[in-house]
Amino acid sequence: MEAAFRRLYGTAPEGVWSAPGRVNLIGEHTDYNDGFCLPMALPQATLVAARRRTDGLLRLHSAQGDGKVTELPLAGLAPGTATGWVRYPAGVVWALAEAGHDVGGADLHIDSTVPTGAGLSSSAALECAVAVAYDDLYGLGLPGPELARTAQRAEHAFAGVPCGIMDQMASVCSAEATALHLDCRTLAHRRIPFGLAADGLRLLVVDTRVKHDLGDGAYAALRAGCERAATLLGVPALRDLAPADLGPALAGLPADLAPLVRHVVTENERVTRAVDHLEAEDTEGLGPLLTAGHASLRDDYGVSCAETDLVVDTAVAAGALGARMTGAGFGGSVIVLARDREARAIAGAVTEAFHRAGHHPPAVLEAVPSRGAGRLTMGG
Ligand code: ADP
Ligand code: MG
Repeated sequence: MEAAFRRLYGTAPEGVWSAPGRVNLIGEHTDYNDGFCLPMALPQATLVAARRRTDGLLRLHSAQGDGKVTELPLAGLAPGTATGWVRYPAGVVWALAEAGHDVGGADLHIDSTVPTGAGLSSSAALECAVAVAYDDLYGLGLPGPELARTAQRAEHAFAGVPCGIMDQMASVCSAEATALHLDCRTLAHRRIPFGLAADGLRLLVVDTRVKHDLGDGAYAALRAGCERAATLLGVPALRDLAPADLGPALAGLPADLAPLVRHVVTENERVTRAVDHLEAEDTEGLGPLLTAGHASLRDDYGVSCAETDLVVDTAVAAGALGARMTGAGFGGSVIVLARDREARAIAGAVTEAFHRAGHHPPAVLEAVPSRGAGRLTMGG
C-alpha cells in the first residue's frame, strides 16, 4: 500500500486503514424495518492509504477503479458532482463536512480484497475505510455508530442507494471470532462469540457471480411495501410487531403486503433464536434457522433466484447443517454452515450442480469472523 501510494503521490502516506466486507448470518431485509440482524466481518477487507492535504483538494485512486487519479475540490462537493466509483469515498468526505466536522483534503489510495457486487458489501467496506481514515487523520474521535451513519449517508446521497445500516455497522463495529447482534433502530450492538473452528464447523460463502438487474428497483419497491404495511397496521415500523401479533396483522393486509410482513416478523424472531443458540454454545443449532430464513426470503419476500436456490438446495442435500442467501438478493452470495469434514464435498457438489445447470462456476470463500474497521500501520 505504501509503495503504491508513493508512486502515485510522490510521498509516504500518514497511515493505512482497513474496513472489512461482511456476511449476514441471519436477519435479512430487517435493517430498514428497524429490526435485528446478526452479521459478521470477513477477512476480505478494503484498505486505504491516506495523507492529509492543506489545499482543500481530495485526490482519489483505487486499484479496482478506473486507473486514474480523480481530483475533486472539497468546496464543490455535493450530491451529483461525482460519478463512478469515487461517489462512495467522496460521499463520505462530503457527509463528514455536512455534519459540521472540520475536515480538509487528502490523497487516498484504495485497494481491496472484497469482491464487488457479490453481496459481501464492498461498498460499505470502501465507505467505512475512508470514514475511519478521516476520523483518525482529522482527530474527530467519532463513535462507531456515527461513522456507520456517515458512511450510510454517503451511499444514500452520493451513490443513490437507499441502503439500510447493517453493512456499515458490521464493517465498523465487528470484532474477531464474534458475530454482531445489532438493533437497527437504536444501533445498540453486542458481540456474540462465534467460534466456528473450535466446534469443528466452517462457514462457506458461495459467490454465485450473478447479479440480476431487477435488483435496484425491486429493493426500493420492497422498502416502500414495508413502509406501507407499517402505516396500515399503525406501527412505526414492522419491528414493532411481535410474533403473536402476526395472525391478526396478516388478516387485515392486502395480499401483496402480507408475505412481506410475515418475512420481517419471522426473520426478527430467527435472529433472536440464533443468538440464543450461539450463547448456549450450540453453533450447529444455527443451521435449520439459516435454511428456514432462506425459504422465507424465497417464498415470502421473493428476493431469491434460481442460482441462490440451487446452492442452498444442493448444499443441504449434500449434508450442510443449513444454508441461505445473504445480502439483498437477486443473486450475490449464499452462506453454507458445514461440518469441517464435509465442507469440501459440499463445495464440490455445488460446483458440479452449477456446471450441470450451465451456470458459470461459483467462487467459494471461507467466512472467518474477523476484526472491524481500524488503523493498520503508521506510515512515514
Ligand atoms: P456490494 O456492496 O455488494 O459489493 P454494490 O453495488 O453495493 O455491491 O457496490 C459495488 C460498487 O462499489 C462498485 O461498483 C464500485 O463502484 C464500488 N467499489 C467497491 N469497492 C471498490 C474498490 N475497492 N475500488 C473502487 N470502487 C469500489
Ligand atoms: Mg453495497
